[in-house]
Amino acid sequence: MTEQSSTVSMDKIVSLARRRGFIFQSSEIYGGLSGCWDYGPLGVELKRNVKQAWWQATVQERDDTVGLDTSILMHPQVWAASGHLQGFSDPLVECKNCHMRWRSDELKEPKCPSCGGELTEEKMFNLMFKTFAGPVESVENIVYLRPETAQGMFVNFQNVINTTRRKLPLGIAQTGKSFRNEITTGNFIFRSREFEQMEIEYFVKTGTDEQWFEYWYQERFNWYIKLGIKKEHLRLYEHPKEKLAHYARRCIDVEYLFPHGWAELEGIANRGDYDLRQHSKVSGKSLDYYDNDTKEHYLPNIIEPSAGVDRSLLAFMCDAYAEEPDKDETRVVMHFNPALAPIKIAILPLSKKENLAAFTKPIFNDLRKQWAVQYDDTQSIGRRYRRQDEVGTPYCVTVDFQSLEDNRVTVRERDSMHQIRIPIVELKKTLEKKLAGEDILILPPGGEVVQAKGKEA
Ligand code: ATP
Repeated sequence: MTEQSSTVSMDKIVSLARRRGFIFQSSEIYGGLSGCWDYGPLGVELKRNVKQAWWQATVQERDDTVGLDTSILMHPQVWAASGHLQGFSDPLVECKNCHMRWRSDELKEPKCPSCGGELTEEKMFNLMFKTFAGPVESVENIVYLRPETAQGMFVNFQNVINTTRRKLPLGIAQTGKSFRNEITTGNFIFRSREFEQMEIEYFVKTGTDEQWFEYWYQERFNWYIKLGIKKEHLRLYEHPKEKLAHYARRCIDVEYLFPHGWAELEGIANRGDYDLRQHSKVSGKSLDYYDNDTKEHYLPNIIEPSAGVDRSLLAFMCDAYAEEPDKDETRVVMHFNPALAPIKIAILPLSKKENLAAFTKPIFNDLRKQWAVQYDDTQSIGRRYRRQDEVGTPYCVTVDFQSLEDNRVTVRERDSMHQIRIPIVELKKTLEKKLAGEDILILPPGGEVVQAKGKEA
């Protein structure tokens, strides 16, 4: 059996991301800063859409979760209680010749991968970035950039319970930046030093934790599929019991087949009552939950689905990418799910002529109140379609001189390249239905199919 491999190379994704303004290297004009990335005009839309889709599924459409947005800098005791100060470290070796540092657990041979030099003894290296709060750089003023968003939700558990009067099971969800001084960054945005997370802390009664763990890893697996990731590119990996952190009862990763191989997209852990117990012990405050129905006090257990925004975005890009034969050429298409597509609709007047522009602009202005819409009137219509395909725009609306006469426009679908011509009065409603998944060839009143062969004139 051959090892399954990704259908796209990382070079192609990096090149498209750069060329079309999805992702740039941080501080590029100064030679870049390793492990940091900037999201360009299309990247920022895609990233917002990924977070929005997650928020919709985890907060907006659920009765049992609430959102939160906690600070990046937290009291240093948080990291003592969580175990990050003592345990959040990787084994590091340094080359005695070129002084490059490497994670010893990732080395295939006991020599420097860069120059072949001899390596130092292994040393543990803490991954948290350290800085100072206030003007004095003293030990008492040391604070850390959070390496995960989770702790903000643990330490606010009582605030949320008291102010929302919710009962368990209750989830708290947040998205936000996290920072880790990773020794080896790489594979584009897969592993960086500054990244964004989407985390849920789901608080449950002891004894129901295993059932909720089962529920959450399936729920999270299905979220990626619903947003268009191919099932054969996803799998679940359960961490063996002997490799789990001492407090974790179970941990399952959702893995994606990235161009560099299978790797973690999201981790779902059953953390028992470790987090609240630790914070209760170190802060001296009770974090017990009072169950009004059973009149019991207890420390809840926590199920944690923890995902990376950047890693998900990379997976969505890799999975959407396709090169398809088209006439004598190849077209590059990003088959993004419409919910994720950075631009939903492109408005393309056939020419720059004044009267056509004056007719088209009000249509554009009307649609952009509801969606991210782009107006493009440069170059041939074929080229404009290709440009939109390459960034994954699901629908193009072409306005031609005939439109001035018959008040109809052409709607072209990205994946099939089918085209229909429909009355402008039906446009908004039709696009709404198409973006929600209706087949392009289902016509509104007064519509007709003008191209259904998948080839463009
Ligand atoms: P890995 O083993 O790949 O370093 P991890 O197990 O340390 O990941 P977690 O601590 O479980 O990761 O973090 C939850 C999620 O946050 C990960 O599944 C990933 O999507 C994201 N994440 C963690 N570290 C990074 C990073 N350095 N760059 C980008 N995303 C990250």
